[in-house]
Amino acid sequence: MIDFRIDERTRERLADAREWGRSAMRPAGLEADRLSAPLPEGHPYFAKFIERGGGRTRWPGPAGAKRERTSVVETLLLLEELAYWDRGVTVADPGPSLPETNVLAMGTEEQKERYLGPFLAPDRPRWACFAMTEPGAGSDAAAIKTSARKDGDGWILNGAKCFIGGASRADWILVQAVVGGESGRRAQRSFFVERGTPGLGGFKIEKKMGLRAYESTSFTLQDCLIPAANLLGGEERYESSAGFKTAMRTFNAGRPIIAANAVGMGRAALDEALAFARESGLLHRDRVRDRLEAMARKLRMARLVCLRAGWLADRERPNITEASMAKALAAGVAQEATALGMELLGATGARGDHLIEKLYRDVKAMDIVEGTGQVQRVIIARNLVGLPR
Ligand SMILES: Cc1cc2nc3c(=O)[nH]c(=O)nc-3n(C[C@H](O)[C@H](O)[C@H](O)COP(=O)(O)OP(=O)(O)OC[C@H]3O[C@@H](n4cnc5c(N)ncnc54)[C@H](O)[C@@H]3O)c2cc1C
Repeated sequence: MIDFRIDERTRERLADAREWGRSAMRPAGLEADRLSAPLPEGHPYFAKFIERGGGRTRWPGPAGAKRERTSVVETLLLLEELAYWDRGVTVADPGPSLPETNVLAMGTEEQKERYLGPFLAPDRPRWACFAMTEPGAGSDAAAIKTSARKDGDGWILNGAKCFIGGASRADWILVQAVVGGESGRRAQRSFFVERGTPGLGGFKIEKKMGLRAYESTSFTLQDCLIPAANLLGGEERYESSAGFKTAMRTFNAGRPIIAANAVGMGRAALDEALAFARESGLLHRDRVRDRLEAMARKLRMARLVCLRAGWLADRERPNITEASMAKALAAGVAQEATALGMELLGATGARGDHLIEKLYRDVKAMDIVEGTGQVQRVIIARNLVGLPR
């Protein structure tokens, strides 16, 4: 039986997230949006985030210290709440972020210690990032061209990546590349490229319509020489390292998170729309009430599908279809909620200085990242009719 009840500790963590979101994240997100630039690395917001225990790894450390386990359902509820306040800031937050899952799944003990160790109790804001997307390879991640060539005791990487979250400030980037002069899924491996490595450069922060609090960055790798030990999983797992599968597993695990973020953003838009309708007397109109009611209903539905994907993950049961359904549904509903808000606010929203307008621009990315809505629908349909993924 599915049961989403939460305990007192989770309730407290949600209340804490709400207060942090209201007092710190929302103002930081608005500041970045107005300046149209990511929050700088030295921004006091990040130091405060580290001070309150943020930016840490899930890795228990070399001695395997016991840590309280956070369930996927609890994580989704927390990330929904944080995105309610500012989804761009949640991604700007320091931490080992997206590649952590790959390193935990595939990394050697030495790699976990070297790359996740500094995130156990970070002395300063630290970032890491995962670089898959290239100018010619977005949805079709199997088409990447960045290459890694063995050279004596190391690897030489060449290629270009784009739209990578936090790349210019990351201590290390987990770069996806093809090996052996081949292409396609089977040739893919992941490599740690550390900040300052000669040949890693050309950082350019992309212009974005929304989510401006964090940087999405393109960069190049030009004859970038890295030690052999930087191959994720190590040399001994070279043949079986299945870099593509691990990367895809990360994206599968990320889909319910994006869905939860979208539900949070949709809730924020609905609250803005409701507040405006109340203040401006629009609530007297049946049609307005009907549309707000429909939105609340759809957001509730998206949240339940999202939590179900998390509930299955907590039980280590297959959830690919549910994860894709959650993302496809929630991103669409959240876009609808922000569009409704824009419509109800009319000229007040269109002036460009109201939160609803920022949400309207921010939410589009929820449909794009970690597999577009269309790609999710392709996955669901293939599973439905029993085609290989
Ligand atoms: C804000 C933001 C942050 C990002 N962060 C990262 C990051 O940290 N790391 C990273 O590696 N990447 C990142 N990305 C890149 C992201 O993963 C890609 O944008 C995404 O995979 C889509 O690729 P694309 O933009 O090249 O679009 P395309 O793949 O070119 O798609 C264009 C259109 O074609 C449709 N389409 C494509 N293939 C199919 C198909 N088989 N069937 C039906 N329709 C299809 C898509 O749905 C879409 O509508 C980020 C992107 C954004 C916008």
